[in-house]
Amino acid sequence: MKTQISSDVRLLADLIRKGGVVVFPTETVYGIGASSYNEEACKRIYQIKGRPSDNPLIAHFSSIEEIKSVCEVSEVAERLLCEFAPGPLTLVLPKKNPNIFPKELSTLAVRIPKNPIVRDWIKTCDSPISAPSANLSGRPSLTRMTDVVRYFDGIVDGIFVTDEPSLGIESTVVGMFEDPPVLLRPGSIESNELKRFFPNLLVPNSFLVEGKTVPLSPGMKYKHYAPKANVKLLSPDAFSSEWNRYGTDSKTAWIGFSYANEEKLESTFTKTNPTRVKIVSSNFEYSTELYAFFESCDQMGIDTIHCETPKEGEGKEGLLNRLQKASEAN
Ligand code: AMP
Ligand code: MG
Repeated sequence: MKTQISSDVRLLADLIRKGGVVVFPTETVYGIGASSYNEEACKRIYQIKGRPSDNPLIAHFSSIEEIKSVCEVSEVAERLLCEFAPGPLTLVLPKKNPNIFPKELSTLAVRIPKNPIVRDWIKTCDSPISAPSANLSGRPSLTRMTDVVRYFDGIVDGIFVTDEPSLGIESTVVGMFEDPPVLLRPGSIESNELKRFFPNLLVPNSFLVEGKTVPLSPGMKYKHYAPKANVKLLSPDAFSSEWNRYGTDSKTAWIGFSYANEEKLESTFTKTNPTRVKIVSSNFEYSTELYAFFESCDQMGIDTIHCETPKEGEGKEGLLNRLQKASEAN
């Protein structure tokens, strides 16, 4: 298949209107999208990704009004959208329009991406865009154009060239289909910000029924964000001491804040491939770089990626969740 790699909003909207699949960037990660009213095209996304068929897609809209035309938007949901949309917040709402994908569900996950050019494209498509992250199921999401082209050129109808993702981790997902609302996936918009709107918000790990975790969102039960290399999540102390012992091993990679032995850091940078060692200065930078780093490590044939735990405070919640899931998948 010839893939149109383009910034032309009209051309890319035409592809969607003809039932095509287009990879596009959002402020979180790259998405792989099709018209929410074209079931066949949406199902092709599952085939391309190898995504389990019971894991529904987020529908991307260009305005709150469009969301209101297909979902029940309660007063608090509207206030949340006014505060955080466009932005990295996904709400799962009761669905009004049964024709929107996935037809069999009574709820719909909705989001408005931040890039105005992407919103303009969605508007030009005359349809919301159903899109999961553009990656193979279970693997890290993609945040760099070069990786998107490597995976999807020749496989999808179009690749949208515009600003690359800046946040680097997937949206926060809040289930608003029952009371109290539940945090289905942590992300850049953190639970303390959401609790301003609903102090009774349920957060993960509190879904224990007879000792079993009940996944309220299908996506919660699957392996996620895992590179081929093993991921080790380490406290700052453990990170530093492992670094001192194994830092020069060329099959290891490192991403974190604390490099105990600066001299060794320098020699590792100069003597070996520097891309296997990454220093970050904030949780925000860590999130932005994480998946691209995982991807580079896999391309280099790294065996083990050592990741330092995020710092306390802003940006920790979503990042820690991704690191935990990636390390659990070993
Ligand atoms: P992804 O498409 O990879 O960004 O993941 C989307 C996430 O939203 C997954 O965890 C899905 O299970 C979740 N999701 C999408 N639609 C719904 C829905 N209707 N109800 C509950 N969770 C949903
Ligand atoms: Mg995903």
